[in-house]
Amino acid sequence: TSASTYDYIVVGGGTSGLVVANRLSELENINVLVIEAGGSVYDNVNVTDTGGYGNAFGTDIDWAYKTEDQEYGGGAPQTLRAGKALGGTSVINGMVYTRAQKSQIDAWETVGNKGWNWETLFPYYKKGEGFQVPSHYSWLEGSGVAYEPADHGYKGPLKVGWSSDQLNDGLAQKLNTTYQNMEIPIPYNKDANGGQMVGYTLYPKTVDSKLNIREDAARAYYYPYKSRSNLHVWLNANVNKLTWKTGNDVTADGVEVTLANGTTSTVKASREIILAAGSLKSPLLLELSGVGNPDVLSKYGIETKVNLPTVGENLQDQMNNGLAFDSKTKYTKAPDYVAYPSVSQVFLNATAVGKQLLANLPKYAAQVASANGNVTKSKDIERFFKIQWDLIFKAHIPVAEILLEPSGYTYDTEYWATVPFARGNVHISSADPTAAASIDPKYFMLDFDLQAQTQAARFIRELFQTEPFASMTGSETSPGLSSVAADADDEGWSSFIKNNYRSNFHPISTAAMMPKEVGGVVDTSLKVYGVSNVRVVDASVMPFQVCGHLQSTIYAIAERAADIIKAEN
Ligand code: FAD
Repeated sequence: TSASTYDYIVVGGGTSGLVVANRLSELENINVLVIEAGGSVYDNVNVTDTGGYGNAFGTDIDWAYKTEDQEYGGGAPQTLRAGKALGGTSVINGMVYTRAQKSQIDAWETVGNKGWNWETLFPYYKKGEGFQVPSHYSWLEGSGVAYEPADHGYKGPLKVGWSSDQLNDGLAQKLNTTYQNMEIPIPYNKDANGGQMVGYTLYPKTVDSKLNIREDAARAYYYPYKSRSNLHVWLNANVNKLTWKTGNDVTADGVEVTLANGTTSTVKASREIILAAGSLKSPLLLELSGVGNPDVLSKYGIETKVNLPTVGENLQDQMNNGLAFDSKTKYTKAPDYVAYPSVSQVFLNATAVGKQLLANLPKYAAQVASANGNVTKSKDIERFFKIQWDLIFKAHIPVAEILLEPSGYTYDTEYWATVPFARGNVHISSADPTAAASIDPKYFMLDFDLQAQTQAARFIRELFQTEPFASMTGSETSPGLSSVAADADDEGWSSFIKNNYRSNFHPISTAAMMPKEVGGVVDTSLKVYGVSNVRVVDASVMPFQVCGHLQSTIYAIAERAADIIKAEN
């Protein structure tokens, strides 16, 4: 069934887009069309296999966006992965389900988004969640997984829990003892999803525990509902840009779309267009439609419809590095274990580090502003940086994520500083919607970002020298002490880190929810400034990075977005 005009068009059938489409189509008199560039991956084993992380990389369901050469981060370009399929990036991600530290979401309100704080978002995390209680799955006995009942939702569409990849050989418990034995102990955190993340924890994932397959946005929010006659999905269809009504206010009336067969046409929406194409695409669709920085648009002959220069700015991502160690025992499964240390658990001299960073904030803000031609203003960025500083040094959010992954005779680790200060951008580089964009996260532009990434590596070395773990491990195989000496200074770590990092695949904030006067692109109802009926509901709107992985927060934002839209219409 297909209507000629829809009430809402959702651009991008990914993590956020399918949530909004599902919730809006609960209203029977509302017609919703989702336009998705990729196809269905329901039966794709690279998607469903809970142990298959990475298998989809480089296949046709991975956009594999390329960045500009990273001037401060090793010189080479980086690959930014993103899912091109119904379900979006949730079909290729690591399935980790962790939220944020309470104070980080409260900071969204501090920056000027009235009504966006932990207390208002927490119910939406739970609304989407269908938590699977671990005691119902016998293979989890002895695995150490635990949870706080009040922190979870049980009736939502998105299955969250643990898969059979979890080990129950005592490793989780030994790791816990090791963390407690560190020079500055890392406490055990029974459940990191209640707004307090610091500590060692066994987090849940987006998995169907019964079937032992990946849970993604399409499995949760689309397939069980696809018989709704008012929920329409076009696959393998690329949205090129918005189309505008003629008139005085700026109102979209549809989108231009290129279908799988190569034909291009226009499809109309009577109420709203909802952008959910991801943080590396939604801002580009605004630019291609004439909403953005006139200096960028005019370069490609695009007429400015709305002068909103910060579209595509404020890009924030994290950098991922790893150390590897030999294991004395062989592991047949590959689960992962996480610790979230705070700044005083990672830096022995945290007070001095904080003081120095605070003194550097004006300089950092000026550097960011000058790198983007003062499109974002130094004084505003300095304020954002001070909020971020307060989160790190006063609210004691986790300053790093440390993942430990046993597999075979190896302990792999992955780690990242959670809240880098660098701000980059994404912009069109052509008026052709199929052309590659210019993406520049500016990894390692600011010294503190490297300092935090370095200190987290030292933290991992200390972990592996602490009992009982120390007796369970052989030597460090990467980078190894011959490459980075045991007593290496920051400089000694720098080339290993800069030449071996990858994106942590958490790009956000390219259409940030903030007041317009400080550089926001959308308001607190997620509407684009200067446009009457276009919203952005994906990772682009998050004003600050969160310490948990992104998906849980994106699902929650999209759940709330749907309620906001419903209330207005
Ligand atoms: P997406 O889910 O990417 O949705 C955007 C959709 O829009 C896609 O389906 C895309 O094909 C479509 N689209 C784009 N352009 C167009 C167009 N022009 N026309 C039509 N459709 C279009 N987060 C976690 O919480 N836990 C993890 O373990 C984790 N691991 C990750 C691992 C990897 C490799 C990656 C890349 C990310 C990971 N993340 C993880 C991050 C998280 O998955 C993403 O941040 C999140 O899924 C993004 O949701 P979104 O709605 O913003 O965009």
